[in-house]
Amino acid sequence: MTKAYRQKLFDKYGGKCAYCGCDLQKGWHVDEIEPVRRNRVWNYEKSRWDRNKEKPCEHPERMCIENQNPACPSCNINKHSGSLEDFREAILGYMKHLNEISTQYKVAKRYGLVEETSSGVKFYFETIKK
Ligand SMILES: [Zn+2]
Repeated sequence: MTKAYRQKLFDKYGGKCAYCGCDLQKGWHVDEIEPVRRNRVWNYEKSRWDRNKEKPCEHPERMCIENQNPACPSCNINKHSGSLEDFREAILGYMKHLNEISTQYKVAKRYGLVEETSSGVKFYFETIKK
């Protein structure tokens, strides 16, 4: 990926994460909206990811600016290789999970420090006009 291409991606949403809208910091990630499965294998000797000769990259045609979004590491890692709808579901699941397991979360909610809404998950890029 050239520096100019990466800059073009950075500028796609004005230097903001396409998902949460935070300001991108050094080390921001490139996310494929429709996932590209690279199927790489870890090379223990060289401590790096290598191409998998038996199972090549799936959907390399998706590595284009129309299918790529600039993302903060947290959003990119949480989205993983899922679809947008998978990511949206996962985020909704975090709140459900907190209500099931976190006493601290439930206490904070009871004291009004946390307020839940039913507005759903809207990604930053869905809220702005291009
Ligand atoms: Zn983000």
